[in-house]
Amino acid sequence: MIRPSAVTAQFWSTQDHLVICTLCPHRCRIPDGSSGRCGVRVNVNGTLVLPYYGKISSIALDPIEKKPLYHYYPGNQILSVGFLGCNFHCPFCQNYSISQSTDRSTMELTPQEVVNKALAENSFAIAYTYNEPSIHFEFVTATADLARNSSLKNVLVTNGHLEKEAASELLGRMDAVNIDLKSYDDEFYRRELGGDLDTVKQFIRIAGELCHVEITTLLIAERNDSEEELTAIAGFIASVNPQIPLHISAYYPAYHYTYDGTTPEQVMRAVKIASTKLDYVYPGNIPGEANTTCPTCGNLLVERRAYQVTTPGLHGTACNSCGAQVPIVLG
Ligand code: SF4
Repeated sequence: MIRPSAVTAQFWSTQDHLVICTLCPHRCRIPDGSSGRCGVRVNVNGTLVLPYYGKISSIALDPIEKKPLYHYYPGNQILSVGFLGCNFHCPFCQNYSISQSTDRSTMELTPQEVVNKALAENSFAIAYTYNEPSIHFEFVTATADLARNSSLKNVLVTNGHLEKEAASELLGRMDAVNIDLKSYDDEFYRRELGGDLDTVKQFIRIAGELCHVEITTLLIAERNDSEEELTAIAGFIASVNPQIPLHISAYYPAYHYTYDGTTPEQVMRAVKIASTKLDYVYPGNIPGEANTTCPTCGNLLVERRAYQVTTPGLHGTACNSCGAQVPIVLG
């Protein structure tokens, strides 16, 4: 049910009785009473409104390593909020119950209430995560502005599928971001995910100018794990900055995909390939620890054990063995 009091959206125009949303490259042409592909931006009597503004599907204090961010406030907890909907339709989505449906119970919070909760939990920051938060641009930016006024940091976990102007406005408010780079094959992006690779690459380049960036690739055997594709993914990231950390996470069957889960051996092979181009590549979603070693001398810099983090090899943000600077932001 659309609330008449729903907040008006940014980034839209009208044409022939349709509302055209210009937040993301889908540029949905939305008839009266309908929503765009993401399910949360709705044409009500010729105005694009946000009936899901402030509707929170999940809110929890998480280790920041879970986002995953390994080089930003390691070992800290972060208040994490999620909403409903997504502008992708990945058939392997691990959060499909909130990303592919808007028919789920939520709690309603204002931006100030989210900030107050972060302060009450002694969180250093707010993470916008779980579903695709960028389609809730207006709530996220309002919350991020208030968070900054309260000396909190802002962290975004996203598919990076936004038009350039919105991307710059959103990323300009973020301190750190983890962006999915799900493939280096535009056909895979279009057919399987419902998105486009060039937009995601543009988003990563903008983020590289504005905030701390880490990238995640969910590794699916025989779909995005060829040596050629992994080399292309790592090469592109290196062209932005070879010190951007890349997380290569194991896929496991979820939602519509029933292919076998990715094995630890397959993940470690991918890590090895990507490490030829990048200084910091981490396995994810597999047993064992993902430590940070110095790319110059091999010294153990950061040790991670089940979200317990120590920094035996750091002196400030430099390697305590060879003195090389490490791209890490300590809390
Ligand atoms: S944000 Fe949603 S409504 Fe807007 S263009 Fe993208 S999918 Fe369509």
